[in-house]
Amino acid sequence: MTTPTTTPRTVLITGGNRGIGFSLAEEFIAQGYRVAVTARSGEGPAGALTVRADVTDSASIDAAFTEVEAALGPVEVVVANAGMTRDMLLLRMSEDDFTDVIDTNLTGAFRVVKRASKGMLKARFGRVILISSVVGLYGSAGQVNYSASKAGLVGLARSITRELGARGITANVVAPGFIETEMTAELPDALQAEYKKSIPAGRFASPTEVARVVAWLASDDAGYISGAVIPVDGGLGMGH
Ligand code: NDP
Repeated sequence: MTTPTTTPRTVLITGGNRGIGFSLAEEFIAQGYRVAVTARSGEGPAGALTVRADVTDSASIDAAFTEVEAALGPVEVVVANAGMTRDMLLLRMSEDDFTDVIDTNLTGAFRVVKRASKGMLKARFGRVILISSVVGLYGSAGQVNYSASKAGLVGLARSITRELGARGITANVVAPGFIETEMTAELPDALQAEYKKSIPAGRFASPTEVARVVAWLASDDAGYISGAVIPVDGGLGMGH
């Protein structure tokens, strides 16, 4: 367990109704944070405030932040977790397949972080954590849209670091490898076994293993880490 932050802070996580986002919310609740999640449908875990938002819609993000600020106070930690895939080989990928994934994964993160930065600048404190993927830097056949969107998050975090670093704001990227979620459970057993062979750790990770790293980046202990890409991939992307 990471050291709990010394001050109870407010965190907002996008896409907190399932998968990694749900685990992130559970971890922050366990560490004593005031937790809000955005969801298009469903709910975050018990103990989290769930607000409706679609990351492709700036107005809905603005409304979600306003609701969270009124209920829990200024958002000091933001985790841009919402994401989607639409895999297709390059030659068959339509322009919409490309731009829709960029709009959700990269522009969506921009919209969320831009809204969050208002309060963070006022407070002269903020933790921005962007959930990327090992394939952002490793590349992945059939995922030019997804991997481009995830690589873009690195430039986003590093530019925020340069722009806002002197105002007490850090921005980092967490790059998970294969995580046990609905997405990976759907893979055929033979393919899962093949992937596991290529991962030095020889296994997929639990969402909690990602959540603990994210919570640590939000903690006071990680106050001098910014612009970093932290892999949580069992060594899969090593060296990229
Ligand atoms: P899931 O598919 O289980 O969940 C995705 C979440 O994002 C859902 O809450 C979904 O909401 C939300 N979301 C998607 N589009 C939008 C949108 N336009 N507006 C608001 N919310 C949206 O994914 P995971 O939990 O597996 O992944 C979470 C993050 O981690 C993603 O960014 C993913 O790319 C990344 N990641 C996952 C890995 C894995 O192995 N699972 C590996 C590496 C990275 P809704 O329920 O409404 O669809």
